[in-house]
This record gives sequence, structure tokens and C-alpha cells, in this order.
Amino acid sequence: MQGAMADIDYRNISYWFDSLDEEVTAAPSSLRPDEVDVVIVGAGFTGLWTAYYLHQQAPELDIAVFEQETVGFGASGRNGGWCLGAIVGIAGLIGREKSREQGLAFQRLAFETVDEVGRVTAEEGIDCDFAKGGTLRVATTPFHAKRLERHLEFQRSLGFGEDDYRWLPAAAARERINTSNNHGALWNAHCAALHPAKLARGIGRVLRGRGVRIYECTRVRSLEPGRIETDAGTVRARWVVRATEGYTRTLRGEERTLLPLYSMVVATEPLPAKVWDELGLANRETFGDERRIVIYGQRTADGRLVFGGRAGYYFGSRLLTTFSPDDSQIRRVERSLVELFPILETYEITHRWGGLMGVARNWRAGVGFDRRTGMGWAGGYVGEGVAASNLAARTLVDLMLEQDTQLTAMPWINVELPKWEREPLRWLGVKAIEWAGDRADARESATGQPDNFWGGMFDRVVRR
Ligand SMILES: Cc1cc2nc3c(=O)[nH]c(=O)nc-3n(C[C@H](O)[C@H](O)[C@H](O)COP(=O)(O)OP(=O)(O)OC[C@H]3O[C@@H](n4cnc5c(N)ncnc54)[C@H](O)[C@@H]3O)c2cc1C
Repeated sequence: MQGAMADIDYRNISYWFDSLDEEVTAAPSSLRPDEVDVVIVGAGFTGLWTAYYLHQQAPELDIAVFEQETVGFGASGRNGGWCLGAIVGIAGLIGREKSREQGLAFQRLAFETVDEVGRVTAEEGIDCDFAKGGTLRVATTPFHAKRLERHLEFQRSLGFGEDDYRWLPAAAARERINTSNNHGALWNAHCAALHPAKLARGIGRVLRGRGVRIYECTRVRSLEPGRIETDAGTVRARWVVRATEGYTRTLRGEERTLLPLYSMVVATEPLPAKVWDELGLANRETFGDERRIVIYGQRTADGRLVFGGRAGYYFGSRLLTTFSPDDSQIRRVERSLVELFPILETYEITHRWGGLMGVARNWRAGVGFDRRTGMGWAGGYVGEGVAASNLAARTLVDLMLEQDTQLTAMPWINVELPKWEREPLRWLGVKAIEWAGDRADARESATGQPDNFWGGMFDRVVRR
């Protein structure tokens, strides 16, 4: 079925949408309410989990979710399917002595969130191919191996044990993942591979079954205390939640709140058993490596390799929803895949797509709620939102219901969001960061030596 935006066939959104075993349809509702208790804008993981936990804790509330297209249309139905116990910003907190304790508590909550997603999906009968095999960070050069070993030592000094992280020397690492260059790998237990569209659609189904209304094909133009303006008219509400991530700039007044950054993904055809015998990933471990312009992969439940990477920004925060298979960034992702696994050269790439991440100016994820105005938001996860959105949603719900919990003491709450620069400064800044990352990656892979100059510049902004 065609989407609300002209010419979008929802099956083309991603391999994940194409492999759903449901008909994906969406249509505007003529029964839009004038007033509800809570309005949530955006039916991705953030909006859906917020509705889920809010309904669970306060079933008397009348909750309405507004979505411009269909449930899971944004990053939530397009990502790499890593449910990873990490949140952008935690490493920086742990790295500084004065915020270390708080960072560690936050890290433990992020780890636990992977299990929370597993628990809820099992309990609610949401079959999203959840498999907690951990994640492998491969060293493709000897100095990457040294860097990862140093990282592991640091984690050990913080109290994380073998159940959290393990170093796999080259031979053992190759058994787990047979990349062309493999000098060892760091295994992190706190990651599950999942089918993100099945997860998003599954939460949507549970919500509808409980009477939470989801209004699809309804674009929201602006949010204000006590009301939202949609294409079809005004809806009043006591609480208004923004869960629009990479699309936030479409809302009036929010043009420079979150920067839309693209990531591109491909999926192979189902690979024969003999290829998997060669490649590994027997426990469906997700994987990446030490380059700065990140790559990420997962073995899907139906035996494909889904692989993504690259991050790109378009001048003026331009929003794209569909991508040409010839897109140069998608081609780069394909080349990286075959460099890592030359055996895949002869296998077909059946799906190519892209999606939008949301990036805050301080490069941190956050949760906000203003009791006075009743306005809330969560997002800015960059590429780590699958698990983080669940923790953000639970946090937001605790804030809304005025519950002082461990979650409401975390350092990502109500942190002021600086605005992004105006163009062309914004574009120049982001391109400079991207360029520094690319340059560091190229030099490190060519020389086998750390590139502290360009790499250091990139790290100062992105890996804080
Ligand atoms: C290609 C890609 C790969 C990624 N891989 C991973 C990964 O492997 N692991 C990980 O943890 N994270 C990953 N991420 C990030 C992760 O997918 C996101 O952080 C997460 O899905 C964000 O969820 P969300 O609900 O906040 O945003 P979204 O899923 O983007 O949802 C926002 C929703 O709001 C709707 N919306 C926006 N504006 C309006 C409006 N004005 N009116 C009505 N509706 C509106 C949109 O249509 C959309 O459905 C990836 C992201 C991308 C793009």
C-alpha cells in the first residue's frame, strides 16, 4: 500500500518492512479527538515505549499517538537491529572522575535495558527475533587490538568482569567472526540482535489492543503547552510528548534542535549454511570494528547479513525518506562489506536503504519534561537508540507521573539542548567532523598506526 507521502511503498522502507508477515497499510482517521490526556508525536520506539509504560502505570489516561506515516516508519523500522546496552554520552561521564560513579550507574541501567526489552517482548508475545548473543568489536589492525585491550583493562578497573566483556585473541576471534583482517575482538555481552520493524509493529499492536489510539498519516506541525496543531486540526492535551528524533526539524520552532544524520544499510540474500560456517556469528552476535565512521552488522534470523554504516548530512538538514540504490554512500557500505567478507562478492544484495538519526548539538542523548508546561521529549540517540529509547521512555514516564526513582536521577534529564548553528556553518562543521573521521580511518588502515591528529579531532566531538 502507498504511504501518505507521495510514492512511498512501505515495503520499500527497509528489508525489515519488506519481511514483515503482515500487510502494511495506513490511512488517516476521520475520528481525530479534540482533547485527550496525553499526546505523543511520533510512532517510533520512543513514542511507542512511552505510550506502553504510561498506559501500564496509569491506565486511566487517555493517550493518543500521532504519526505522519505508519508505525515504525522512521529510524525504528530501518536500523541495524542492535539492541545495545549503550547510550551516547555515557563514555564521557565515565571518563571523567567527578562524574564516574553516576556514569557507571547509568551504564548498568543501559545494560539492564537490553534484558528489559527481551522481557517485555517475551511477555507480550512480540516475536522480533530477539537473540542476545552479545556484540563483537573486531580489531582489523594490530594497533586496534592494543587499543581494545587497553579499553578492556579500563573496563576491568571499573569492576566489569568476564560476564560483561571478554577479549578474544585472533584465533578465537576468527572462530566467532571470520573477517579478512582479524587481530582479535572484544566481546561485549550486553547486546541482542532483533528485527526492529517487528518490534515497533508489535508494540503498536499491543497498544491498540489496550485501547491506546494511534493516528497514522497525520502530520503534526507544531507543539505547544496544552495543544498540538496537526494537518487536520488542533488537539488539546494536558501533556505533550515529542518523539520525532531525526524529523524534529519539521516542527515549527524546532528547526535547529536535532540534526538529521543519515546512515545507510544493505541486506544480502539468505546465505547458505556453508557461508555461515565460514563467516561465524553462530550466536547471532552483532559486530563492528574500530573505525571511526562506524559500521554495524547482524546475522538475521532468516540467515541474511544486514550491514550498515556511513553517516551523512545534507545541506539545510534536508530530509530524505527513500534512497537510490546507486547512492554513493550505499555503494561505500557495500564495498566495506565485501572488504570485510570477500566471500560475499558473489552473493546478491537484495535490499538497500537509509534512515535518519537525530543528533543533539552536545552529541548527547537526553530526556526532558517540564512539569509546569506539561511538555516532554526524548531523543538524540545518534546510532544507539534501540535500547536507549526504552530507558528514555521509562524515565519520561517516571518524570510525568512524578515518581522519584533511580531512573529520574540519571544525568541525561533536563539538560539544556543548545541549538545547532545556522547554515552554512552547520554543514561546514558536520562535514569537517566527517572528513576528519574518514581521514583518520584511511590513514590508520594504510599505516597500521594511530592517527592522533585527525582521529583526535574527531574523538573530541563525537566520542566525548
Ligand atoms: C540506518 C540506521 C541504523 C541504525 N542502527 C541502530 C542500531 O543498530 N542500534 C541502535 O541502537 N540504534 C540504531 N539506530 C538508531 C535508532 O534506530 C534510533 O535511535 C531509534 O529508532 C529512534 O527511535 P525514535 O522513536 O526516537 O525515532 P524514529 O524511529 O525516527 O521515530 C520518529 C517518528 O516520528 C514521526 N514523526 C516525525 N515528525 C513528525 C511529525 N511532525 N508529525 C507526525 N509524525 C512525525 C516519524 O515519521 C517517525 O516515525 C540506527 C538508525 C538508523 C537511521
